[in-house]
Amino acid sequence: MKIIMLGAPGAGKGTQAKMIAEKYGVPHISTGDIFRANIKNGTELGAKAKEYMDKGLLVPDELVVDLVIDRFKEPDCKNGYVLDGFPRTIPQAEALDKALSAIGETIDYAINVEVPDENIVKRMSGRRACVGCGATYHIVYNPTKEDGKCDTCGAELILRDDDKPETVLNRLKVYHEQTQPLINYYEAKGVMKEVDGTVDMKDVFAAIVEILGE
Ligand code: ADP
Ligand code: AMP
Repeated sequence: MKIIMLGAPGAGKGTQAKMIAEKYGVPHISTGDIFRANIKNGTELGAKAKEYMDKGLLVPDELVVDLVIDRFKEPDCKNGYVLDGFPRTIPQAEALDKALSAIGETIDYAINVEVPDENIVKRMSGRRACVGCGATYHIVYNPTKEDGKCDTCGAELILRDDDKPETVLNRLKVYHEQTQPLINYYEAKGVMKEVDGTVDMKDVFAAIVEILGE
């Protein structure tokens, strides 16, 4: 099962992708997580990516595409994967199609988690990320048991630099210009599905399970 999660930054792609990965036994591949791990480990890729991420801009396609296509070659991807944050541009989608068609495969579902812009800034300013394991919480909608500490690994929680309101507005603009056109792209391929992302996260997941099957 090969799935792409689409939606604005903060729509809940990562939250849903983690649940999909767990239920259907496929890896969750988040390009944002891969870049953040590179930044944390002080790699050259991390340093390059950070320049763009901090401004709310997309990392150039040439730094993203090979990274993802190499990841598919790992043994855990043999039954598929859920892609979160990739593709984000038409050239990325085309590169993905080309790599898949070379091995006779296609994407099964593109799921758009629909959340209006006016809800996004509130979502993002309340998002907290664990510095240890990368788990994501929300101070109102998905709080931790103990304030400021990850439920899973106990490490500290932070507000991501790119979740500050001024950067979020830029990320939304970039989303509308460069990523939203992917909805038509996958519609034309007949794999586009949409869910309402404004309801409780469990209800969003139930709608996704309706699409993917039990
Ligand atoms: P994305 O991966 O699309 O950027 P996240 O999954 O990280 O988004 O979600 C953004 C924030 O919104 C997080 O703090 C998350 O806990 C919260 N969130 C996710 N889904 C919902 C929902 N359905 N209702 C309310 N808050 C949500
Ligand atoms: P995310 O965690 O998905 O919100 O991604 C955080 C940031 O990483 C984005 O705002 C981009 O700067 C960068 N990024 C993640 N995935 C991609 C991608 N597929 N293409 C370009 N930039 C990306």
